[in-house]
Amino acid sequence: MKLLVSRENQPEDTLIRLSGAQFGGGRFTVIAGPCAVESSAQLRATAEVVRDAGASLLRGGAFKPRTSPYSFRGLGRAGLGLLVEARAAVGLPTVSEAVDTDDLAAVAAAVDVIQIGARNMQNFSLLEAAGRLRQPVLLKRGAGATLDELLQAAEYLLQGGNRQVLLCERGIRTFAPSMRYTLDLAGVVRLKQLTHLPVLVDPSHATGDARLVPALARAALAAGADGLLVEVHAQPEAALSDGPQALLPEAFRGLMASLRQIGTALGRAV
Ligand code: PEP
Ligand code: MN
Repeated sequence: MKLLVSRENQPEDTLIRLSGAQFGGGRFTVIAGPCAVESSAQLRATAEVVRDAGASLLRGGAFKPRTSPYSFRGLGRAGLGLLVEARAAVGLPTVSEAVDTDDLAAVAAAVDVIQIGARNMQNFSLLEAAGRLRQPVLLKRGAGATLDELLQAAEYLLQGGNRQVLLCERGIRTFAPSMRYTLDLAGVVRLKQLTHLPVLVDPSHATGDARLVPALARAALAAGADGLLVEVHAQPEAALSDGPQALLPEAFRGLMASLRQIGTALGRAV
């Protein structure tokens, strides 16, 4: 059976357009922002930094899936309100995670792209509910999921009638303990062969270390990914989640400049 997500079913790239931004069709599109929405001032300041540096979408988690129940789990609905304000202030479309079906409608109403995180890649009731929406979904690969499992999870969304799906490689768990996860760039190349859906790379969660993020972000562009999901924070040492992997504003600006140079060499619009 030909899967709806497969290149056999649809040879041409799926294009996902959001007020000025486009995923697919050779573009390289950057989503950036803090791991979590922490406050109005933090989100606004970071949103301005990433917009001025050339990001096309703003990310920020309001509902945070955390390994420990004692960690900061996000501002919840108040965080969604801050994302609505930030979008109006800086003019970038927004991305935020829905961690369960109860909050899906609220997330969908507040942001442009609904993220389904790695821990929820095979949450089939969430996938079915998101499949009923007509709004882009960013589906992250589970840390222990094969490419086939990722594609079958995306198939739930398409089968439900939602064809606006972005995939994201965010690192898988291997035997190598020196980084948070292992970024599977070969998997990105293979995914681009197997599916017409845009494939993004998240070098922040993959490595857990801001010093590794720019090089892997550049490698993602060179490998043919359709874009990035990157964490940026003005004060990583004070971040309520994932500080060590957040790029400082200056590092993000430098990364964007180098991506544009590589894009020129490759004939790809960054
Ligand atoms: C995130 O992007 O905010 C996140 C929690 O990532 P992941 O689901 O890949 O761990
Ligand atoms: Mn994070």
